Amino acid sequence: MALRLYNTLTRRKEEFKPVEPGVVRMYSCGLTVYNYAHIGNLRTYIFSDILRRTLEYEGFDVKHVMNVTDVGHLTSDADAGEDKMEKGAREAGKSIWEIARYYEEVFWKDLELLNIKMPKIICRATEHVPDMIDLIKRLIERGHAYETDQAVYFDVTTFPKYTEFTGQSLEEKVVAARNEVQEDPAKRHPADFALWFKAVGRFENHIMRWESPWGIGFPGWHIECSAMAMKYLGETLDIHTGGEDHIWVHHPNEIAQSEAATGKQFVRFWMHGTFLLVGDLSGNSEERRMGKSEGNFIRLQTLIDKGYDPLAYRYACLMAHYRQKLRFTWESMDAAASGYGSLKDFAARAKQIGGEEGPWVADYRDRFRAAIEDDLNMPQAMATVSEMIREAEVRKDYGVLDALYDFDRVLGLKLREAAEAATSIDAHIEALIKEREEARKLKNWARADEIRAQLAKQGITLEDTPSGTLWRRQDTSLR
Ligand code: AMP
Ligand code: ZN
Repeated sequence: MALRLYNTLTRRKEEFKPVEPGVVRMYSCGLTVYNYAHIGNLRTYIFSDILRRTLEYEGFDVKHVMNVTDVGHLTSDADAGEDKMEKGAREAGKSIWEIARYYEEVFWKDLELLNIKMPKIICRATEHVPDMIDLIKRLIERGHAYETDQAVYFDVTTFPKYTEFTGQSLEEKVVAARNEVQEDPAKRHPADFALWFKAVGRFENHIMRWESPWGIGFPGWHIECSAMAMKYLGETLDIHTGGEDHIWVHHPNEIAQSEAATGKQFVRFWMHGTFLLVGDLSGNSEERRMGKSEGNFIRLQTLIDKGYDPLAYRYACLMAHYRQKLRFTWESMDAAASGYGSLKDFAARAKQIGGEEGPWVADYRDRFRAAIEDDLNMPQAMATVSEMIREAEVRKDYGVLDALYDFDRVLGLKLREAAEAATSIDAHIEALIKEREEARKLKNWARADEIRAQLAKQGITLEDTPSGTLWRRQDTSLR
């Protein structure tokens, strides 16, 4: 079997092979840190984590780079409004530098709670402005960029491939952008996009600013990813990831900037995660993407505050293919929490009962691998895990722990930790029960009652039977 991945560039699944055997150069567009990440953003990072873990499972060394967009950027070149980061800072009464660092820290914490592996290289846009300036200079030298009184623009007409990625013509792009407000009259083509904004006119008071050959100003959003990706991974990357919204503007712009500067292919595999939706689930127009500006903002912390394990959200994401829409509802969250709970319970049982792995498990190992190799088909992989568990229960053969732990290298559901914690808790309970039995033999009723009360507080009920004391966990809700 071979790993096959869906490539947005070619619009089909292709066999994946990196340029350098054994090594994958992978870049993920990071968070814009003017606010918390919402669970939609996090879905995209769970997707890139599954991708990275799958590549590692296949034996590749993954050089994974992620940027942090800590320079404020505008929703479009012609955005008349205030910079989002500056607005966020004003609302919170902090400096934009503080704001950016604060949200960045919370984001890393979110990734940790979701058991998302940290990128090997993390690069902040604010620390790479000289690299961006160099790239812009190269583009000007090669005739792909020009300066006006307000900005430096990429000249899209000099890069005929510009419309290839989306299949959208330049005219369609311009129509899509028409509701924008102010335009620079010196812009040569309405589809040209900014590489550098000068701190003049509406940006005169822009707080984040740097010196450049074009005067004081700040970089456009797209240039940061091209500059940092090429700095850390070279001029051709194996894989570049992001959410589906990036297919239309950000990624075509990255391709244009990078390929116009180097004359080489920038990215071999473009991969995009489909959005998380919220809202009315009847399929009518109320169904919306979750967005920072949409007012339907759910954070990971919102889930934790409601009593969910963050990994139950990871589990929910695993139940849908990354190229499928995922509709978020509290019912689906409950179902995920319950499914995840049963999976952890099974892992604990398998650890307690133990046993050698029987030959029947090999087929499940093959099926799991085939599922992940088929463009990260996690629903299929999860179904394989469920079937394996069902068969283990039917056979009363629990020698599947190694297989489960092996699958969890990709699933990232911390099954080993869960099984070990459950069994060590069980050992602790059993020790207390033994102590209580001793106390009862010695007619130390006070100590015996104390232990019963202590366990009751932990939700453990005891039953004294002629064959000894049995215990069970009260069915604490599914969370
Ligand atoms: P941003 O901070 O806006 O740059 O977004 C960070 C990442 O989250 C990008 O890869 C976006 O494509 C992605 N993203 C934004 N909204 C959603 C959503 N509702 N569902 C999934 N991914 C999203
Ligand atoms: Zn990017």
